[in-house]
Amino acid sequence: MMNKYYVLMIIIMSSIFSFAGEVSCGRPYTIVLNGQMHHKTHGYTIQWSEHMELEKVHKSGDIDGRWKISKWVVHTTMPMPTTVNMEQDYDFTVPKSVGLHGRFHMSMHGNEMVQTLINSHLYLDIENNRIGLKKTNLWIGEIYDNLVSLQFFQPEQLKKRGYRFQQKGEEFPSTLLTGFITGKKSKGTEGDIEIVFPDSDNENNVIFGPYNPAVAAITARIKSSKPLPEGSYTWSIDTIESTEVKIIGNGGKQVVFHFKGLPEYNSQFGKHHITVKYRSADAQCTGKAENILKLFYPAFASNHPSRNSKEKSMPNWFYYWKQTPAAKPHGDNVRLLYGGRTACNCNKEDVVACYETGSFNKVLYLCDLSRAKFKGRMQTTYPVLDRSKQPPLLGWQTTEYIDTYAVSLIHEYQHYLDEMRWDREKSKAQINAQDKDHDGIPDIEEAGLKFDSEKYQTYQPTYRDNNGSIVSLDVGGDEEWLAYESMRDYHPGIYEHYDWGCPGTQIDDALCKDFIPSGN
Ligand SMILES: [Zn+2]
Repeated sequence: MMNKYYVLMIIIMSSIFSFAGEVSCGRPYTIVLNGQMHHKTHGYTIQWSEHMELEKVHKSGDIDGRWKISKWVVHTTMPMPTTVNMEQDYDFTVPKSVGLHGRFHMSMHGNEMVQTLINSHLYLDIENNRIGLKKTNLWIGEIYDNLVSLQFFQPEQLKKRGYRFQQKGEEFPSTLLTGFITGKKSKGTEGDIEIVFPDSDNENNVIFGPYNPAVAAITARIKSSKPLPEGSYTWSIDTIESTEVKIIGNGGKQVVFHFKGLPEYNSQFGKHHITVKYRSADAQCTGKAENILKLFYPAFASNHPSRNSKEKSMPNWFYYWKQTPAAKPHGDNVRLLYGGRTACNCNKEDVVACYETGSFNKVLYLCDLSRAKFKGRMQTTYPVLDRSKQPPLLGWQTTEYIDTYAVSLIHEYQHYLDEMRWDREKSKAQINAQDKDHDGIPDIEEAGLKFDSEKYQTYQPTYRDNNGSIVSLDVGGDEEWLAYESMRDYHPGIYEHYDWGCPGTQIDDALCKDFIPSGN
């Protein structure tokens, strides 16, 4: 292989897929009400905020019927001259004839008072779109469509009937509560959730480290368009064979996915789905979101899980690409060995791959692609040749990563085929005798192949080198020319989706700079 100096920039598009999910809440036969008010008493301004929920007693039919107040929380803030700390329970009753009562817990700390209904025998009736006490024909709220408004304490109206709602001798203020009624079973959208990756540098890329065992981690977090009711978040990820996955903090809004051990198979890298399922504490709201993680291995490290002791020290790219179609020149099964810096021509620093002439074995070697000559990108440039064209040098092609690997194997495979068809079972003397110009092709074959049997390299196209000088292309003879021609129809990019190395064709180089050996 030759190494030329034409740089083809490949812009790597990195895209994020995210599936935001809807959160929907189904709370049949429920009324949820909220209200706020200011109340002036003894020269203080008291602020109230109130939350009330009612549930229909018989969960059938339409909304008419008996409803129980299931939740009632009153937050009060008032300026107090001194700090008060108090916890107590109290009963809240209306006249016995009405038959309602409830028990509240009151907690008072500083300026804050919280009153929470802890035991409810408080019931209201709904009839003709009114809410109140059917028995006494006292109506304190109304329903319009699914909107509900309710003012529980309406002192004037109640006083007329002899009711007194009192607490410590003072009447309850009357907060206007408004909200919604959900009648028959129905679901409403309450917003959406989405999975985001807060460590924005890496987006959704999970890059294993170069040590043994290989580890990687990524933080994922929930993003929602609106605050969601309290609840749990259950995270999961699809299976990654032979890698141990832990989800730290599962149940919460933010988790860390932790990975240990590189997968055995190349197919386990790349895209993996993560899912989060949300469920509110009251089980009424659910939601789901998905996103994708992309797993990468450090290409030049050697921490793959091969159990073969000979393979142990081989780089990860060699271990994983061997499992892909890029390892089969023209679809053929060949035996691949890691040549490092010693096998056949691997001692030359710009050689990507080699075939051992005279071996007659379908064995191809890949050399050490971490060498400086390959610019940390396994980059190589070769002439695109076609001897049926004039001029026969069509141009130059630069490849990187898995393309360099695949196209180099095609080249070496051609050497193997040529040796098998012309030199097999012949002695060195016989081979020399049939090839007077020493170009690797028997002289008798050359004319048929449109080569000159008296020339070492029949075609001598010229090109302008980096210095602007016109030079003649030297590929190393006619048989070598054939090997280059065999690379002509290779389409860079066809194996891109098999390359999950870092650096590699599917990840931004900047993210992999720590994994590129330097200074060799
Ligand atoms: Zn060659």
